[in-house]
Amino acid sequence: MASLTAQPRFLRSITLDRAAKFTSPDYFHDINLHSRLYSRRATNAVELEFYSVPDLKRIPFDKAVKQTFAPASLGMSFGPSWSTHWFKLKIKIPDDWAGQQVELHWDSNSEAMIWSTDGIPRQGLTGDKGNDRRTEYPLVKSAKGGETLHLYVEMACNGMFGTGKNGVINPPEDNRTFQLAKAEIVVPNKPAWELYYDMQVILGMANELANDTARAQEALYTCNQVVDSYDRSHGDSAIQKCLAITKEFLSKKGAPEGHRVTAVGNCHIDTAWLWPYAETRRKTARSWSTQLRLIEEYPEYVFVCSQAQQLEWLAQDYPKLFEEVKQASKKGRFQVIGSTWVEMDCNLPSGEGLCRQFLYGQRFYEKNFGSRSSIFWLPDTFGYSAQLPQIARLAGARYFFTQKLSWNNINKFPNTTFNWVGLDGTKILTHMAPCESYNAQADVGDMVRSIKNNRDLAFSNQSLMPYGNGDGGGGPQRAMLERIRRMKDVDGLPRCEMGGVESFFEDVEQHANGLQEWKGELYFELHRGTYTSQAAIKRYNRKLEFLLREVEIASTFCLGVGRDHQYPKADLDLLWKDLLLNQFHDVLPGSSIELANIDVRAIYRDVEKKGQQLLNNCLDALYQTSAADGETEGHVVFNSLGWTRSEIIEVPVLKKVGMGQYSDEKNTGYARVEASAFQYQDISHDTSNKDTVKGSSNGLEIILENSWVKATFDLHGRLVSLYDLNEMRELIPEGQTGNKMKLYEDIPLYWDAWDVEIYHMNTGRNAGLGKARLNEVGPLRASITVEHPLTETSSAVQTIVLTAASPRLDFHMTADWHESRTLLKVEFMWDINSDFATYDSQFGVIQRPTTYNTSHDYAKFEVCGHKFADLSEHGYGVALLNDCKFGYSTHGNTMRLSLLRSPKAPDLNCDMGHHEFSFAVLPHKGTFHESSVVRESYQFNVPLSIRPVSGKALKALRPASLFEIEGAKNVILDTVKRAEDSDHIIVRLHEAYGGRAMFKLKSGLNILCIERCNILEDSDAEVAFNAEEQASEWLVMSAFEILTLKLKVK
Ligand SMILES: [Zn+2]
Repeated sequence: MASLTAQPRFLRSITLDRAAKFTSPDYFHDINLHSRLYSRRATNAVELEFYSVPDLKRIPFDKAVKQTFAPASLGMSFGPSWSTHWFKLKIKIPDDWAGQQVELHWDSNSEAMIWSTDGIPRQGLTGDKGNDRRTEYPLVKSAKGGETLHLYVEMACNGMFGTGKNGVINPPEDNRTFQLAKAEIVVPNKPAWELYYDMQVILGMANELANDTARAQEALYTCNQVVDSYDRSHGDSAIQKCLAITKEFLSKKGAPEGHRVTAVGNCHIDTAWLWPYAETRRKTARSWSTQLRLIEEYPEYVFVCSQAQQLEWLAQDYPKLFEEVKQASKKGRFQVIGSTWVEMDCNLPSGEGLCRQFLYGQRFYEKNFGSRSSIFWLPDTFGYSAQLPQIARLAGARYFFTQKLSWNNINKFPNTTFNWVGLDGTKILTHMAPCESYNAQADVGDMVRSIKNNRDLAFSNQSLMPYGNGDGGGGPQRAMLERIRRMKDVDGLPRCEMGGVESFFEDVEQHANGLQEWKGELYFELHRGTYTSQAAIKRYNRKLEFLLREVEIASTFCLGVGRDHQYPKADLDLLWKDLLLNQFHDVLPGSSIELANIDVRAIYRDVEKKGQQLLNNCLDALYQTSAADGETEGHVVFNSLGWTRSEIIEVPVLKKVGMGQYSDEKNTGYARVEASAFQYQDISHDTSNKDTVKGSSNGLEIILENSWVKATFDLHGRLVSLYDLNEMRELIPEGQTGNKMKLYEDIPLYWDAWDVEIYHMNTGRNAGLGKARLNEVGPLRASITVEHPLTETSSAVQTIVLTAASPRLDFHMTADWHESRTLLKVEFMWDINSDFATYDSQFGVIQRPTTYNTSHDYAKFEVCGHKFADLSEHGYGVALLNDCKFGYSTHGNTMRLSLLRSPKAPDLNCDMGHHEFSFAVLPHKGTFHESSVVRESYQFNVPLSIRPVSGKALKALRPASLFEIEGAKNVILDTVKRAEDSDHIIVRLHEAYGGRAMFKLKSGLNILCIERCNILEDSDAEVAFNAEEQASEWLVMSAFEILTLKLKVK
């Protein structure tokens, strides 16, 4: 018989499993490769003492080390959740460890940080199980043997994702304890680690490469060979034998023209989310000190960090560590990128809010790191405004990086490397990491996905891989860096090199050909609930953006007219930074835990109080009033908008001044005012205008009627008819109604506070019927009160107002809301035919379909709009305005505004309790483009500010005008402020409708010259200026352009 010598075939699934078990920490780890990773271990070499900080306080190092410490031992538990415990470590290295490399292993099942005895954070630690675990700290490269080392450990009683009960996004558990499981020293066995990392790459290739390639087969065969060759009775020599096999496999080089992956170390730290801001301040120190250690160890390693706010916290809390970061940044190893103050939400902040994110971010980078960032870095946000390309470019960013659209759950986004074209046509080079993660593990899977998911390989044969564990994970791990070293140039994989983001983009810019373009918003097909969750936070953001605007305009006014008033620059900076902080992408969207939201609301209250105080001080200076002047004899209104406003306003009643109409309580009355653009003036109680409004009821219906419209309500408060008296046109379709309160089942698939899902649209039902009564009857203001018993547990009260001055019908609401996973919307049906609706956005508008024809249409079943949404057909339209809401769903002729949600995770009490908000209906002749909807939406959000003044001040009042726009109704002058670094005045305008504008900027100030500048206030060309007329020459703006001007005033 012939002798048979071949071994049995190595079967794929069995071999993969076998090799995985060979390196597994969980199976056969007592005898497999894992068992050899450490050559020595001393479990009783660490002597421990501890101090528990009372009252959940987080205290600085200097204070902590002065406390009295008590003996501690392994197995002790520490708590409750969010408490802090300091440990003093005395580490005795065994005598016979001389010459060995020694590591400390610490696992408190929580986050922790190692401090040197001189108070410098050395490294973060993350206990518990999972990929993010980091429990090793290198103590010495070569021990003397017998020496004693001292360290401190600051233990935080939270996991890296907080303390969610039985699930990451569940509300936190308040009383969790964390057990100190490990505090020991070890000697790593370097060859075993080498083999371990080699096997991760080779086994990864066997798993991930297409099975029909020779290289995949070769990888599988190599795995089999390695395990065959590992003779555990031969110890380290067996490892050497295996290493010879793995090194041979890994030494085969790839094709030089293959795909290139730039691996960029990063650590996405959510500025608040499942933990409060105070914990983030420590997370940054833990993560970044960890990365500084890896930078020391790996000379090729580059780490990037973003969010100026986090760096500012580091400078405040850990100045020595901040210095280390600065030093590493100078060497290009720790690169500070991102451009913005925080990685903000991009749906909800105003246009100016977005501008300030860049202004404060870039100024911080310039001041502390010597240069601005060319990268707009925003891996994780829930949708991207169409104005971002223009804003980013005007703020010094040339490149944009993100990846969140890979989470879309309806349509796959078609581009990877492309030019994103903004609303106005501005382009920004954009890359969306095809590995589809900002926490990539730098494994073979990420490398394979970088090609497989790359939709633009034909135009640009490279991709970016942002790797590293985020939040409490501390960024890249040693294993990731080791894998990248091995994947640098190996046959079968793209070439992988560590590098920075800027150099990646510069390279793309140089080598890419014929890149595709995407015009308009990058709509995120998920997390649509974030337009509505946490109503109070959204309301504060909207109101306070406008309050700070008002303060800046009034303060600039004082500056311009030479009042004795210091421009409150330092105060405004603090308030803006607080507002910008709260625009973080888990705070403003409403996806943080209650503990974080309590802090957030406290910050808002503080901004509101201080902002109001600044405004009052400033208006007193402007009107030259003082408390010593005596009794109030009149009121001055301040119109901070750039056009004349004709409105009915509520004014406190003064003895000497008669009122056209009194309120119910008689302590206020209503006055008609004509307030000129950017002016302050005495309320003149205009009596020449004879327009009136009348409220009436016939027992079946309640009618509000003025010179423009007749609005008829049934006794449940539903709008049964809205008739335009001048156009002779009914707006409510036959048999339909408006102002309908609708409740929807709001149960998403997983992300509770984040998502309203497409199927919620099928579940709308009418809320309990309201009860309406006529309240005020005119002649200046007429109103109806409607009590809505929404459900058995929730109710609302509506005041519906029509004044003598406008066709706008206002709905002011208070609600008492106690629901679970229920969404409240208000619904209107209009007799209007249009396939698209127009939504207010940052410094512009965006049109979206009202149809469900294509998957891209119905993916937009709920969209973000700012101050209004408009539905217009030829000749006529209606806008639905709001003062603090953002979620709209317009389908066919039905417009809905999302009012309140009730998710239960991660904040169990989200939106429970009292609410106040307003919306309004504005019918208009002509299409949206011919309407004054933009101006009305500003007026609805910026009430005229009224301030009491004495008779003396009233007599001395010399109304002046700050600015006036002549010639173009489509130009909005939104921002007026003092320049950051001089006494120049900055004004920011935008074209609001999407067309050309020709206008002159006029001013009541004594202007010497005007320059164009960018958002960072760098001067550009001078603008022709006519000093005699105090007006610019004709300026031209293109569609949706944002224009910033710098004015020098005498
Ligand atoms: Zn995030």
